[in-house]
Amino acid sequence: MKNYRSEKPDGYRIAPSPTGYVHLGTVAMALVNSYLARQNHGRFYLRIEDTDSKRYVPDAVEKMMTTFNYFDIHFAETYVQSERAAIYQKYAEDLVKQGKAYYCFCTEDDLNQMRETQLKNNEPTGYYGKYAKCRHISQEEVARRVANGEKYVIRANFGYQDWGDRITFVDAARGEIALPPQINDPIILKSNGLPPYNFAHVIDDTLMGTALVVRGEEWLISTAEHMQLCDLLSFPRLNYLHMPTINIEDNGKKRKLSKRKDPQALVMNLVDAGYPREAIFEYLLTIYNSDFEIWRTANPTAPLTDFQFSIQKIGTNNPLFDLPKLNDIAKNVWARYDHATMIKVFNAWNWQSLPQITPAIKARIEAMLGVERGGERPRKDLVKFEDIPTLYSYLWDAITVDGASLDGALLKKYAAIYDANDDKDTWWQKIKNMAPDKPSLKTLTAQMRLAITGKTNTPDLWAISRILGNEIVKARLTRW
Ligand code: GLU
Repeated sequence: MKNYRSEKPDGYRIAPSPTGYVHLGTVAMALVNSYLARQNHGRFYLRIEDTDSKRYVPDAVEKMMTTFNYFDIHFAETYVQSERAAIYQKYAEDLVKQGKAYYCFCTEDDLNQMRETQLKNNEPTGYYGKYAKCRHISQEEVARRVANGEKYVIRANFGYQDWGDRITFVDAARGEIALPPQINDPIILKSNGLPPYNFAHVIDDTLMGTALVVRGEEWLISTAEHMQLCDLLSFPRLNYLHMPTINIEDNGKKRKLSKRKDPQALVMNLVDAGYPREAIFEYLLTIYNSDFEIWRTANPTAPLTDFQFSIQKIGTNNPLFDLPKLNDIAKNVWARYDHATMIKVFNAWNWQSLPQITPAIKARIEAMLGVERGGERPRKDLVKFEDIPTLYSYLWDAITVDGASLDGALLKKYAAIYDANDDKDTWWQKIKNMAPDKPSLKTLTAQMRLAITGKTNTPDLWAISRILGNEIVKARLTRW
């Protein structure tokens, strides 16, 4: 039954379980695998691991696909494990025929009792050795009990061969690893006919031709068992790379980024907040490839696909989720875009979620996205679109200005000469004429800025004033 895809596997995949929204770690895995597939001329495919019905979340698959689409992550092939039950069953039955697996009729009660005995005797708990009593049931008895409608699972018979003290393998990021073999006979087919992760993983990654299984480090410890299953199935052992998990600092302690506690762990929250997706990619590349930042500095405008991802640089340290770093990257990503791209990205974003948004205000925002863009030193103030109402609050009609320090007479004088049609030089000349020396120029511009924007520091005031137009600018100048 050795009909695996090819002698030379060329696949890279992600294998998410549809348990809700997509985790930042899943996007990281997708990114790493798509680089590896591209660099090695392989396939990049998706496998939906939905055999655990307890963890089933309705719509999770659709939500996942929306996220992947949004990130422009596309797959050459898509597999759904729950549709492949017959394949796993065939392999499991085949192992039973060879004596490498067996039907186990132990009930929950049997297993609990066994566990108690083991604990009392100070023995390791689990289904092994003399405790693996269903290993020895005769074929006739199996047939009779099945015919009787007794529930059963299928377990791999790890007593079938001697595994030695250690199972060694080379993890592509960590180097040589030696793990004690699994002594328990693991379940490979549950009573509902579906396999747990271990069995589905070895069958699928073999049949689907995965060149390198890139997965979270939480699976590292189970790798011995997965190799044992490959051996039983007479499959070549798979190749692995275990990615360090992204951590977060919580009250001085490091812990795994969690979907429940850390909203930023859900990539769609970052997207909804209006981060550029490229920034999320760049951030993930920064934390998973120590070379990336050097490359980006040397190639500030090159497309991300030009970067050569190196698995040797993944390392084993758990990166810490670092929001200021992501924000910084986002500023740089925006700064690279031209005005037309900014408008396109803004329109693709859920801009309707901005408060009190009207067509006029939307048009002002779009114009604002072009201010101080391009050139040698583009403005780097924007992190995410969600910040626009605070960052560019003056684009809205009702703005708050602390008028205490404003000089109404001076501002009215400026209002009288202001014309939104003036080009920048004319505008500046008029201001200089009004304030001939440095201190008075400083006072005037500070007053203008505060009255028009409510802020002491903004992008180019000439540009902002033009975006607002004569009427609004003059109204804001003359109300003091
Ligand atoms: N379904 C597993 C998970 O979400 C996949 C692990 C793997 O990539 O093999 O953790």
